[in-house]
Amino acid sequence: MDSLEDIWQQILAVVAKDITPTAYNTWFSDCTAVDITDRKLVIHTTSDFKRGIISGRFSEIIRGVLYDLFSCEFDLDILAGDELLEYEKSANKKPSPYPEMEGYTFDNFVVGPSNKFAHAASIAVANSPGKVYNPLFIYGNSGLGKTHLLLAIGEKILRDHPDFRIAYLKGDDFTNELVHSIQTGTSEEFRNKYRNMDLLLMDDIQFIAGKRSTQEETFHTFNSIYEAGHQIVMTADRPPMDMAQLDDRLRTRIEGGLMADVQPPDIETRTAIILNKSAALGLSLPTEVVEYIAENITSNVRQIEGVVKRLTAYKEIMNDSINISSVKRAIKDVIRVGSYIPTPEVIIEETARYYSLQPQDLKGQRRSKNTAMARQVSMYLMRNLTNLSLVDIGGQYEGRNHSTVLSSIRKIEDMIKTDPEVSATVRDISANINSRS
Ligand code: ADP
Ligand code: MG
Repeated sequence: MDSLEDIWQQILAVVAKDITPTAYNTWFSDCTAVDITDRKLVIHTTSDFKRGIISGRFSEIIRGVLYDLFSCEFDLDILAGDELLEYEKSANKKPSPYPEMEGYTFDNFVVGPSNKFAHAASIAVANSPGKVYNPLFIYGNSGLGKTHLLLAIGEKILRDHPDFRIAYLKGDDFTNELVHSIQTGTSEEFRNKYRNMDLLLMDDIQFIAGKRSTQEETFHTFNSIYEAGHQIVMTADRPPMDMAQLDDRLRTRIEGGLMADVQPPDIETRTAIILNKSAALGLSLPTEVVEYIAENITSNVRQIEGVVKRLTAYKEIMNDSINISSVKRAIKDVIRVGSYIPTPEVIIEETARYYSLQPQDLKGQRRSKNTAMARQVSMYLMRNLTNLSLVDIGGQYEGRNHSTVLSSIRKIEDMIKTDPEVSATVRDISANINSRS
């Protein structure tokens, strides 16, 4: 968990499980996170009335999630309407034009054999945008520094060229904005906005694969930027050839640039990252603790960071001395809260494997009892382990819409309640999926 927005998204995910989608939309669609400081979360909603409801009905849940995340009590401040402006003035916050970039620089990126190539390519692009590798495509599993490198490129280019038009888009941002522009009849403005960028940073493009109109628009945007000699940087959790639903023209474009992967760090790099992150938090860790973390968290830098942050919290709040047992607790917490969100492909693969089927069987239309059950379980898991909507889930399968998805999920929910074998199956498959984080 790195940013305020990540924390807020985790809170919203918990709140959403508790209430109906309609209620969730009513109270939270325009509620945003503003700040997190001194064990206080500041959020903003549009009216006094909504503030009253959020404060009365949801503050306990929100504070509960924060407690789970940081193992300490947080206050919740809810601003309404114009109070946000006042708050920003008094906090003397100049809202940065690119708040996402905060804290992600080349300076605080630890380089090792696992990311050396991606790092060097990123530096080259940041030094000569549009001139060397275009597009630059960085790929690899979750938590290995792709977004960090992407934003570090943005930060450096913005520093060198304050006048550059820079866009940072992640996952579905582009799709959502595109759809919105179509609804409001502003497609023209939308096109001009993106096609005239000097630097386009697209994070997690695996989410656009399969969305036809988004890919179409991305392709044209891509061409305009590319032909103008401006820079594009993209990230994804896998190489283009593994994105089955990626538009061929887009794939060809990506493959024509430079592709660089990030791998899990080796033990020396993990150790350097732990030392680096703890120093940044003003925490000095005993050698055996550093070694223990480096040996036990091997595949995800986000988790390493999570453990170090938790240790800082234990120390500050509970005055705990940091030893192997507090580290074990921190590791357990991090792995339990788990910021890992599996891809639909992983869920389908693991479910198919469990039932001795092929992923294609689950995605296709076969109706044998075993296949149908496996398919329904995979839908249930997608709903519970990812943020995908029912429509997105339906899109993973042939001929399924959101209502067939919903009835499958309900069916599995009922079976879990009444049939211990089904609930054990679902637990096992979830564990397999999570072990791939
Ligand atoms: P990804 O986008 O690949 O899922 P992120 O870039 O968000 O991963 O990285 C997750 C967290 O780990 C971030 O807070 C990032 O700063 C940190 N991180 C990842 N790799 C490194 C590294 N080599 N050096 C320092 N911090 C890193
Ligand atoms: Mg990322």
